[in-house]
Amino acid sequence: MNGVFYQNDFTYEEKLGGIGMIIAHEITHGFDTNGSQFNENGDMKNWWTPEDKVAFDQKAQKVIDYYNSITVYDGLNCNGELNKAEAIADMGAMKCMLSMAKKKSDFDYDKFFKQYASLWRAVYTKEYGDVLARTDAHPLPYLRVNVCVQQFDEFYATYNIKEGDKMFLPQSERILVW
Ligand SMILES: [Zn+2]
Repeated sequence: MNGVFYQNDFTYEEKLGGIGMIIAHEITHGFDTNGSQFNENGDMKNWWTPEDKVAFDQKAQKVIDYYNSITVYDGLNCNGELNKAEAIADMGAMKCMLSMAKKKSDFDYDKFFKQYASLWRAVYTKEYGDVLARTDAHPLPYLRVNVCVQQFDEFYATYNIKEGDKMFLPQSERILVW
């Protein structure tokens, strides 16, 4: 096995940043804006307490609003409604991986974040980017990385990112759902 997501000689950090993120992303889909509508047997049935549902919907709306505010190119913004479920899955996955990271005292966060970023390296034309932004449920590749990592203190600490830096997002503006 020697692909982008997994290689035999990957370190623990690279495995979490690669295949770990993918597996956790798929599991989180069970609790995104689509999956959360189904119960444990796969039946479309509301199983939420009313309070939890209100809180979840408010958080999901924040994801939608944030993505709507991102300008891809002049004249084109992201479509938060289209991107919300995949964005929630990416962020939920990173939360899982970072909770595993905490259990290893010498965890190499730089290696982890770089491996994750490498999953979505892409070169494409402006026209193809337009098509992706308008039709793909996944946020654009660079946003799958940048917006996702911006939600976590570990990212700020690893790269010493402070208020005023371009990727800094104040706590109050973060859009983590889980
Ligand atoms: Zn997905």
